[in-house]
Amino acid sequence: MEEIISLCKRRGFIFPGSDVYGGFAGTWDFGPLGVALKKKIMDEWWDYFVESRDDIYGVDAAILMNPRTWVASGHTATFADPLVECKECKSRFRADKIADGISESVTTEEFLATHTKCPVCGKENWGPIRKFNMMFTTHVGAVLPDDDAEIAEKNIAYLRPETAQGIFTNYKNIVDTIYPDIPFGLAQQGKAFRNEISPRDFILRDRECSQMEIEYFVRPDNWEAEFEKMYQACDDFFKNRMGLDLGNINHLEVAPEDRAHYSKRTVDFMFNYPNGEEELMGLAYRTDFDLTNIARESGKSMDYRDKVTGEAFVPHVIEPSIGVERLVLAVLSTAYTEDEVNGEKRVVLKLPENLAPYRFCVSPLLKNKPELVAKAKEVYEILRKKYVNVTWDDSGNIGKRYRKQDEIGTPKCVVIDFDTLEDNTVTVRDRDTTEQTRVSINEL
Ligand SMILES: [Zn+2]
Repeated sequence: MEEIISLCKRRGFIFPGSDVYGGFAGTWDFGPLGVALKKKIMDEWWDYFVESRDDIYGVDAAILMNPRTWVASGHTATFADPLVECKECKSRFRADKIADGISESVTTEEFLATHTKCPVCGKENWGPIRKFNMMFTTHVGAVLPDDDAEIAEKNIAYLRPETAQGIFTNYKNIVDTIYPDIPFGLAQQGKAFRNEISPRDFILRDRECSQMEIEYFVRPDNWEAEFEKMYQACDDFFKNRMGLDLGNINHLEVAPEDRAHYSKRTVDFMFNYPNGEEELMGLAYRTDFDLTNIARESGKSMDYRDKVTGEAFVPHVIEPSIGVERLVLAVLSTAYTEDEVNGEKRVVLKLPENLAPYRFCVSPLLKNKPELVAKAKEVYEILRKKYVNVTWDDSGNIGKRYRKQDEIGTPKCVVIDFDTLEDNTVTVRDRDTTEQTRVSINEL
């Protein structure tokens, strides 16, 4: 993991958030290459699940939502972690993360019985477990610091803790306007915010993240078959679009006692990250829990009316939910390879071609020969028109350029030399095999 974090910073993929001010816990900034990779991953998902299908539609809801959303969804009451404070050094922790064998619903007595020592000062002197709500609050409209609590309370809003509710709250709009055949899905990508007590593990547990979620609405009596189909689609996406090895994904059937109370089946896709197994995606059967809550809170019907029989019912929902940063890290850790070339250690990102920030790097063999540079620029423009994501590199010597392009995952380096001027061929060097072949410019 340390090697990947170091590569990410060294090559401009991912920096600590607000780095220039010494960072800001739980936030990360994506640099030029990180943005390119993240965007490609999100675009592939959108293409696979939305644009290549006839039954899933996109939405893009506001991050700030009516607070009643979070009352209906249960987040106001239950989106909380067990917070425990060390009375000696005042450090605060998530109780279930520092003690073994306890769950999020741990009581003070259960926690004390584990005889956990404070990870900071080593003492064992704990306060009671308190529930800490992870939603970030803000105030909407003209609220001043000296306003009384009642005014402030009335204007409270939350940064959304998940994108899913922006989908559910638009279900009625979509049914009323485009009246899709059932089953149908609504997909959304966007930011979500969670005030993690102790953000850690690089981009795995951050306070601000991007999500890709689908709510797939099905007939209540057909959820099992639709669940299976979505399950297969997700594996296919991970394998064939993201280049992940399915052997690195542990499909964990979540036991009834560990599932949300309304869910009848949940599969956690656990990815084998360099520092251990962590959730990459959750696939949950959520019944009609969300739509029924919205109907109750809003007083509006969430019925779907069958086009043929006229029968009205509240659809049930299957939800695949992916954390984008978690997927970025799964792709990076799959691609990260150390090998040896001519007796020298090499770091190479073996990214799939569809995800590599650049498909090609073009360079002149020597940067101080104007005729080589001119010819290389010509080839660069040809490739750029054809493939868009092509980069130019004339820094250092050719060996250094190869090393840099290997580290950022560029599949092919194209080099223009003196022979090019004679016969219009170039050297194409392969990232994974380091083999060099001579190719005519017309055939690139
Ligand atoms: Zn302590």
